[in-house]
Amino acid sequence: MDGRPILIVGVGGLGVPAALTLAKRGAGRIALMDPDRVELSNLPRQVIFSAAHVGLPKAVAAREQLKRRFPGLEIDCLPWALGPDNADSVVRRFGFVIDATDSPAAKFLINDRCVALQKPFVYGGVLGFSGQAMTVVPGRSACLRCLFEEPPQAGEAASCRQAGIVGPVAAAVGIVQADEAIRWLHGEPPALEGRLLTLEAANVARTRVIDVRARPGCPCGAAQRAQMSEDHELCRQP
Ligand SMILES: [Zn+2]
Repeated sequence: MDGRPILIVGVGGLGVPAALTLAKRGAGRIALMDPDRVELSNLPRQVIFSAAHVGLPKAVAAREQLKRRFPGLEIDCLPWALGPDNADSVVRRFGFVIDATDSPAAKFLINDRCVALQKPFVYGGVLGFSGQAMTVVPGRSACLRCLFEEPPQAGEAASCRQAGIVGPVAAAVGIVQADEAIRWLHGEPPALEGRLLTLEAANVARTRVIDVRARPGCPCGAAQRAQMSEDHELCRQP
């Protein structure tokens, strides 16, 4: 079992169910990172928080609630934002990162720094009734830039925010993300390594998993590495 802690970036619709799942599944040490404070409007969707937590940093309030139910779980609190200035020093301390953020800029920052530092992470995204998750193992599988190339324009990102997220969809994605982290903890290959899970819950709930190929030219270099190992295999053929 890998003893290095798991970092959850974003303690909201994805991060709270992910943290609860990690705690239930026996993770020894996690860290919660979020600059936001609990607001009244969070309470219906993020059931871990109560009215008494309004005004507290989300990371601190979530730690208090989790410690009550899981006293053996070690929880570090990072009540500030992950940004270009601190991303490397933060990410370096952890073994696996859960992207539970709601901003495209943060998702691409996590992708780029995890790829640079060779840290596996699981991407999660929710928009209305649909959710997505994919695990990136740098050096082995496609990254977020293989999938999307560039973050959406500011206008597109704003319309995503307006579409909002549906709590149960976010919870399902957060649980899937925690499962990926648990697999990594146990030294098992992540189920969604280089595979994009899409969950559609608008009418009848549907899930789909597609393989994501590394994109030639992506700065992560996964496509070039795959090509090199293919060439190597060909050379070994008698
Ligand atoms: Zn890539």
